[in-house]
Order: sequence, then structure tokens, then C-alpha cells
Amino acid sequence: MSLPKVILQKGKAKPFFSRHPWVFAGAVDRIEGDAKPGDEVELLSTVGNFVARGFLNPNSKIRVRLYSWNENQLLDESFFGNRLEKAIQLRESLGLMAPEGGCRLIFSEGDGLSGLSVDRYGDYLVMQVSALGIFQRREMIAGILQKRLSPKGIFLRTDKTMAKLEGFEALDEWIFGDSPSGNIYIQEYGLQFQIHLASGQKTGYYLDQRENRVQVAKLSRGKRLLDVFCYAGGFSLHAMNHGALATVGIDQSQQALELAASNASLNHFSNCQWIQGEAFDEMDKLVESGEKFGVVVLDPPRFARNRNDVKDALRGYRRLHMQGLKLVEDGGFLVSCCCSGAINMDMMEELLAQVATDQKRDIQVIEKRGPSGDHPVSVSCLESHYLKCLITRVL
Ligand code: SAH
Repeated sequence: MSLPKVILQKGKAKPFFSRHPWVFAGAVDRIEGDAKPGDEVELLSTVGNFVARGFLNPNSKIRVRLYSWNENQLLDESFFGNRLEKAIQLRESLGLMAPEGGCRLIFSEGDGLSGLSVDRYGDYLVMQVSALGIFQRREMIAGILQKRLSPKGIFLRTDKTMAKLEGFEALDEWIFGDSPSGNIYIQEYGLQFQIHLASGQKTGYYLDQRENRVQVAKLSRGKRLLDVFCYAGGFSLHAMNHGALATVGIDQSQQALELAASNASLNHFSNCQWIQGEAFDEMDKLVESGEKFGVVVLDPPRFARNRNDVKDALRGYRRLHMQGLKLVEDGGFLVSCCCSGAINMDMMEELLAQVATDQKRDIQVIEKRGPSGDHPVSVSCLESHYLKCLITRVL
């Protein structure tokens, strides 16, 4: 059976021969054959050479998402079985499959599965879908995961914005199994965290910061830590576990702070304070009252969704760092996290240099970090390197 073909415009094939998975509408010349949204297609160069295979979405700016560069391999159940297996094997190699732990099992482009992320929280999986072709195949994918890992349940979560952009229904539902009768907890480096997998942010927790939280905690012994954008309290609690004197967490979400407070008591930490409010306002108040901290963590939500937002986003980051720096005591640490793929480490360093000059302080880079290993970066799609964590000392 011959598949519908998507023919690229002249001179547009190079990124896709180089295995970039997103074919934007502007690169497409024409479609040959009868292809419905979500169908498998072959991508061809102008002169008719095979480039790759993917799923078509005529309603999305990403017209075709590519999954395979092998002409002889259909994107069927056996293909997905193989891809998912490779991803799971990586987490096994990283030692992240302890039954009581949590990890990202599948990381979209990082695992060659654009539009599919799966997080494991103990015996439960949360599947997050952001591409039509994957959405249409969600049952098949869940079936493979269920067979391989025997989870107690798989919950499907959809980012509403992505569902709209890709043109599918935003479903949040149990795709396999049932909601657990009690709370779900995971262990992370000796601490317990409660996970709200159906109602929490993202898929319930931010697994990408796992290693960064521990690294920052090691610098926090004997210090007070300010955890700006704290969500479930990860940076604060690990700092307490490593001998921090006290922590202050700021988040605008009351639900997040309730989770953070319950995680603190779950782990028997009493010197944690949680402030509900807008981060910039609350930091202003701390500056006004002359507060200083040994460690300040800035872990904001994504400021730039794409390249067009970068200028405004950098202005936001600069303002955030101006305030953050004022709150770091002499010799203390500033931890700058950024989850905008469009902003890179060089931009962050330059921004810190501007802030240092403005406030007449010295900033030393101690470590440049990325996400945990279960969020692999595809060298063909550097957009998958979204999380940066820059640890600096301030004098
Ligand atoms: N540091 C966390 C993850 C932070 S995610 C961890 O290690 O798990 C970003 C957080 O910022 C979310 O909890 C969100 O509720 C919060 N947030 C978003 N905008 C905010 C704002 N303007 N002021 C305060 N908090 C905000």
C-alpha cells in the first residue's frame, strides 16, 4: 500500500535529512494522495527522495511530525513498541525504575516521540499528549505501556493550549485502570512527595529538577534558602534535608502551597514557611524589609513560548534577577532556572552580567546544569534542551 506523500519545497529538505522532527507549513510544497488529519505520510524532497515518515496535521503549524527515517518501517504498533522500549531501557540504565520512585519515562522529542510525554509516579503513569497523531494512537500506546510495565493505572492529561493548536479534544481521564483509593507518593532522594496526578501542575510534579534540587541542597547547609516559584516545595525540602536552617517558599498557587506544606510535615520539617502571592510583589516586600538569604532559587514558569517572545521574556528574567540578587547575602548562592527552550545558557549568562554590573556585585558561575537524565536532549532537536539551571555565587 502506498502512503500519501508530503513533498517539500525546493531547498527545504536539509533540516529533515538532519532528523529535525517538525515540518512547518512553510516548508511544504504539496500533498499527494488522500491523507486525513493524523494519518501516516512519507516526506519526500522536491526531487522525490525519501526523507522520513511522520503523521500529518493540516490544522497545525507543525504540518508533519517526523518519527522515523527508515523507509521500510511503518509507524505501527511494532514501531511504537520498539521506541517505547528504548526509552524505558534508558530509565533502567539510569537506575530510575525503583518501584516507589518517580521518573519521566518518555520525553517527547528527546526520545524520538514528538508529542508524547509519560511520567511514572510509583505504580501509576501519567500520559501527556500534545500532537494529533499521538492522540489518535493513545489507546495503542497505553496498551504497550500497560503490557510492559503493569501499572495500576494510566491517566491521560492534555495541555488545553496544545489540544487547541493541534485540533483535538482536551481529555483528562483514566485511559487504563482507575483512580487510586488513597494518595500517591513518590520517594526522591530520601524524601517523600505527595503527587496530585490529576489536578496538580504539569503531570503532577516537576521531575526535571530532581538532580538540581539535590545539588542546590548541598550548598544550603547552615543557610536560609528562598525558594521562589516553589510549587510542591522540592528545593526547600531537599535543602532542609541537607541541613539548611530554614526555608521560605513563594508561589501564587494556594493549591501548590498546600501541597508544599503537607510535604513538609510528611517529612517532619518544621522550619519551612510558605508565602502565597505574586513572586515579584513578594520579593519586593522581602527586599523592603531588608531580608537576605544564603541561597536564592528562581524557578519561574516558561516566560517565552517561542522565539518571538524572547525579548519580552528576557526583560522579565532581568527584573526577576535584579530582585533575586538583592536578596542574596554576601557569599551566598543564586540559582537561576529557565525552562524556555528559546532562551539559552549564553543569554542567561549575559543577563547575569548585566545585573551584576547594575548592582555592582561580582557573580561567579559555579555550575551550568540541565534537566535530569530522564529528560534526554535530542541533538537533532535542540529545542528539547529547554531546562537550564545556572548556579552562581554572589559577592
Ligand atoms: N520549583 C518547583 C517548580 C516550579 S514551577 C519545583 O522544584 O518543583 C513554577 C511555579 O511558579 C508554579 O508552581 C506556579 O504556580 C508558580 N507561578 C507562576 N507564576 C507565578 C507568579 N507570577 N508568582 C508566583 N508564582 C508563580
